[in-house]
Amino acid sequence: MLVHEKLGIYKIRLPLPIKNLNHINSYGFKGSEGWYILDVGLNTEQTRLAWRKFMVDHGITGKDVKAIYVTHMHPDHFGAAGWLQGLTGAPVFIGSQERMTWQKVWQNNPEETVNNLVDMLISNGVPSHIALAATKDVNKMTALSQPIPEFNSIEPGRMVQLGDYSYRVLFTPGHSDGHICFFNEDFDVLLSGDHLLPRITPVISLWPNIEVNPLNSYLLSLQDNHHLSVKLALPAHGEAFANVKERILELQAHHENRLRLMKGLAAGGATAYSICQQVFGENLDDNDISLAVNETVAHLMYMVYLGELEVESRNGISIFGDHL
Ligand SMILES: [Zn+2]
Repeated sequence: MLVHEKLGIYKIRLPLPIKNLNHINSYGFKGSEGWYILDVGLNTEQTRLAWRKFMVDHGITGKDVKAIYVTHMHPDHFGAAGWLQGLTGAPVFIGSQERMTWQKVWQNNPEETVNNLVDMLISNGVPSHIALAATKDVNKMTALSQPIPEFNSIEPGRMVQLGDYSYRVLFTPGHSDGHICFFNEDFDVLLSGDHLLPRITPVISLWPNIEVNPLNSYLLSLQDNHHLSVKLALPAHGEAFANVKERILELQAHHENRLRLMKGLAAGGATAYSICQQVFGENLDDNDISLAVNETVAHLMYMVYLGELEVESRNGISIFGDHL
């Protein structure tokens, strides 16, 4: 579907086998010399069919694809990149910092990452059988991200060509350590990835082997983006939107409210798991538990770094509170 005529941007909506997230938007940029692609979906049969259909519909052959970019290392964004690279021979680009995080988290020792994730959940009060079950989806996502592409790095701040136009690479860490967005300054069009989404709040969570205060990075990124005059934001999930400044204010208010709520719940001393259950409810399924606990920990650690909360380990379990 053509979403910006002048810039030649097409949206390709790809299905995702994830309960609360049933699609991802990939974008194709048509230029006089060929096509450029941003984010690619998971490597599932449905994704591969959708890409093949898009290529047939637009008369695109493998060699017409000049480059593939990914906004960040989450499997729904890069999972099919290795397959698409095999099909087209195109180079795959990711932000330089994100590439390093990806190597730390996934390339070097994926099993260790999953074990660290289980340990992290247990140390935050999650019962061990629930912590083990909560990482099942991580293994599924890893399997749907094979084969791994050969990544090239791009530096934030530089200009890249997508179609016939240039876009500035914006460094927008928080949702992931090295998330990048792409901004066309002639038409004020922002490809916002998972940094700014129109309806759902981008997940900000603490994971093993990553930035220790991701919420701080995210709030700083939001502040940095205030000055951008965006006429159209094209996100990785949901519909295109124009009210970017308003959306930034909503996201800032959302996190401020959540921080206030969690600070109150932590007051007398509590685990992240018990705070998480009070905020997100007690009927979370296995995958939601991991997301919700890690999101809670990101908020609590933000307040620990600010000096508003303390944390101490009691018998291997982290207790957060205001006067421990
Ligand atoms: Zn993401």
